[in-house]
Amino acid sequence: MIPLSTPHITGNEWKYVKDCLDTGWVSSVGKYVQFFEEKLASVIGKSHATACINGTAALHIALMVAGVKAGDEVIVPALTFVAPANAVRYLGAYPVFIDVDPEFWQLDPQKLEDFLVKECELKGKDLVNKNTGRIVKAIIPVDLLGHPVDMDAILKVAHRFNLMVIEDNAESLGAGYKNQPVGLKADLVCLSFNGNKVVTSGGGGMILTDNASWAKRARYLTTQAKVNEVDYIHEDIGFNYRLSNVQAAIGLAQIEQLDVFIAQKRVMAQRYNEGLRNIKGIRLPKEASWAKSSYWLYTILIDNAVYKESNRMVLQRLHGLGIQSRPLWHPLHRLLPFAECYAYQIKEADRLFDCALSLPSSVHLTEEDQARVIDVLAKRE
Ligand SMILES: *Cc1c(COP(=O)(O)O)cnc(C)c1O
Repeated sequence: MIPLSTPHITGNEWKYVKDCLDTGWVSSVGKYVQFFEEKLASVIGKSHATACINGTAALHIALMVAGVKAGDEVIVPALTFVAPANAVRYLGAYPVFIDVDPEFWQLDPQKLEDFLVKECELKGKDLVNKNTGRIVKAIIPVDLLGHPVDMDAILKVAHRFNLMVIEDNAESLGAGYKNQPVGLKADLVCLSFNGNKVVTSGGGGMILTDNASWAKRARYLTTQAKVNEVDYIHEDIGFNYRLSNVQAAIGLAQIEQLDVFIAQKRVMAQRYNEGLRNIKGIRLPKEASWAKSSYWLYTILIDNAVYKESNRMVLQRLHGLGIQSRPLWHPLHRLLPFAECYAYQIKEADRLFDCALSLPSSVHLTEEDQARVIDVLAKRE
């Protein structure tokens, strides 16, 4: 069995977890939570980090901090894991779906701008979507599959229209944008440490920002919105979204290995690139000149007409040989929970959904296993 993406536990995980158990600090208070937060803040280059229970919760809180209210709209790529769109709905707000670009498969800054210019109008201070009458408040660019979005282009548009930018870096921790860590330039950054991500804490998330008062609010909202420790005074409806010390201990041990993990991921991508380059009907993932991808999931496009098999047929063939692969997420604007949401000229998300396939991409994927995957795709099996 060659899995798609599984954790690589080889560092200080046991040692730190044992420390938690030995000292009794197993719950939501403890030094590892703080160490984990400090470490992430320094990795991304942000002043403040707030750990929380998972990446979806991080997005939920980040949206609240950004001032998104019921009935507002938030821009989300049509092609992504569902978490950011769900988080928007938790607040009673609505995602607006924008297409991804055909080259790097990320939120398309040009289509974003077209939507804001052609479909929205300023009413007082509010930017209103003419199609729905709702106020557009924020953008959630997602670094899909580990490749960064073109953040400068997105920020330029965001600033012009006065929109908050919450970057979803769940898949791109360790990736780079213009020789800097991803996430550096966004107003708020959200991370996930789910088991299938590059770095895991068993489950967990993080909200990062340079703004001290937003960080304080994120901490407040993730800890039941308590304003007084002694008398238990709460001034908002808060959430119990804290990360446990045990999870943070695992996360800290993992993040210590981030550079090694990313280096291994990039060697893996290189090997796939070389092994698959000459197979007709397979298109390799591209990396922009300004990008350093984390290659969270190495993903190819299969041209059914040329390769003579669809992505689903290849998935089945791989599956039969014990090799796990996965198509991309169903474009969100086609899903029932988002039927009432506005979608702007989606084309690429649908096209990618029809032909993409993610291949085994674990950090510890061996050269032999990878060679097997390549052989099967080359139909040499
Ligand atoms: C994994 C992921 C998340 C968060 O997932 P959790 O399982 O809640 O930690 C958010 N956004 C994207 C794009 C993801 O891939």
